[in-house]
Amino acid sequence: MTKSEMSIDTQLIHAGEIRPGIEGAVALPIFQSANFESVEGEDYHDIKYMRLSNSPNHTVLAAKLAVLESAEAAVVTTSGMAAITTIFHSLLSAGDHVIFQDCLYGGTYDYARREFERHGLRCDFVDGEKPDTWADALRPETRMIYVESITNPLVQVADLEAVVGFAREHSLVSVIDNTFASPVNFRPAEIGFDLSLHSGTKYLNGHSDIVCGVVIGRAEPVARVKKMMSFLGGSLDAHACFLLHRGLKTLGVRVRQQNDSALTLARFLEAHPAVSRVNYPGLPSNSGHERAMELFDGFGGMLSFELAGGEEAARRFEKAVTIPIVAPSLGGVESLITRPAATSHAGLTKDERAEVGVADGLIRVSVGIEGTEDLVRDFEAALAYH
Ligand SMILES: *Cc1c(COP(=O)(O)O)cnc(C)c1O
Repeated sequence: MTKSEMSIDTQLIHAGEIRPGIEGAVALPIFQSANFESVEGEDYHDIKYMRLSNSPNHTVLAAKLAVLESAEAAVVTTSGMAAITTIFHSLLSAGDHVIFQDCLYGGTYDYARREFERHGLRCDFVDGEKPDTWADALRPETRMIYVESITNPLVQVADLEAVVGFAREHSLVSVIDNTFASPVNFRPAEIGFDLSLHSGTKYLNGHSDIVCGVVIGRAEPVARVKKMMSFLGGSLDAHACFLLHRGLKTLGVRVRQQNDSALTLARFLEAHPAVSRVNYPGLPSNSGHERAMELFDGFGGMLSFELAGGEEAARRFEKAVTIPIVAPSLGGVESLITRPAATSHAGLTKDERAEVGVADGLIRVSVGIEGTEDLVRDFEAALAYH
C-alpha cells in the first residue's frame, strides 16, 4: 500500500516522515538552527534558512499536511491570519476583486472590510447557501472566491461544490478556510478547491499552546504563497513546528471524539426547553445538513446556541457551567465556551453583527475530549440553574 491509500490515521503518524529516523530518533528532533552549511554545487535557491521554511521541521510538516488533504503541496505559517493575509498578498494585485462568503471568521471579515481598500483590493459578500445569487457579485476584476468549510460561529455549510464549479466557470482561484472541519472531516482538494488554509492553532495542533497556520493545495499557488511569506516573514519557528507536528499525530482520535460529543450535546440542547436555537451541521434542522452528510466524514466539534432568555441568560450560563472554560479560540482538548459578540466578533459593529446573524446572546461551544456524559450533565445542571 502506498501512503496515500492508507487511512488518515496512518497518514497522520507516518506520512512525510524521514525514515530511518535521524540518529535513530523516532520523533523528528527540533532543528533549532537558523541557517545550514552550504553544500557543494548548491545554488541560491537551495540555501536552507529558517525564514525560507525549508528546515527538516518545515519540510516534513509540509509533506504530511499535503498528504492529509490529498493535495500537492503545503506550507506552515506563524498563524492562521498569516496564512490568510499571505494568500491575499501573493495571489491578488491592486485592482483585483474577491467574492467572500458573508459569515466569516472575525479577523478575516475585519481585514477584508477595513484593510483591503488601502491595498487597492475590492470585495463583495455573498450568501454561501445561495449559489444563484453569486453571479450578481461578479466583476471583470474578480479573481478569487473565498469561503469557510463550516462558518464561525453559526456553523453554516455553504454549497461547497457549487463554489468550485463557479470558480472554474469564471476562472477564479477557489480558497477555503478548512479550520472548523479539519482534514479528518473534510479534504477540500478532493472536490477541487485550489487552496485550503487552517488556523493550525485550533484542531491541527489541538492543545491550545501555540499559534500557527497552514496553507495546503495545488503546487503552483502554494509556491507563490511560500515565496511571498519569505518576504513578509511569517515563517513558523522550529519549536512551534515541533509542537504542531506532535499535535497532528493525534488529530484523528481527537476529532472523532469531538464529533461524537458535539452531536450528542447538540441533540441534548435542541430538546431542552430553555434553548431557543441550536446551530450544528449534524442536526437535520440545520440548513447545511444534507451537504454536510454528503461531503464530510463528521460534523465537527463546534456548535452554537441561543437561550430563550437572551443575553442575560447566556451570561448566567457562562457562570454556571463547571467543565468548559470561558475563553475564546477553539479546537483544543478542553471544552471552551464563548459569546462571539464579546470575543471573535467584537470588532464588528452591532449592526454588522446583526447583518451576519450573530445575536448578542449566542453561545459558541468548542467541544473538547472530556467524557461526553460529563459534558451533557454539566450543561443540564447549568440550564436547570435558572
Ligand atoms: C482562529 C481562526 C483563524 C485565525 O487563526 P489564528 O491562528 O488565530 O491567526 C482563522 N480562521 C478561523 C476559522 C479561525 O477559527
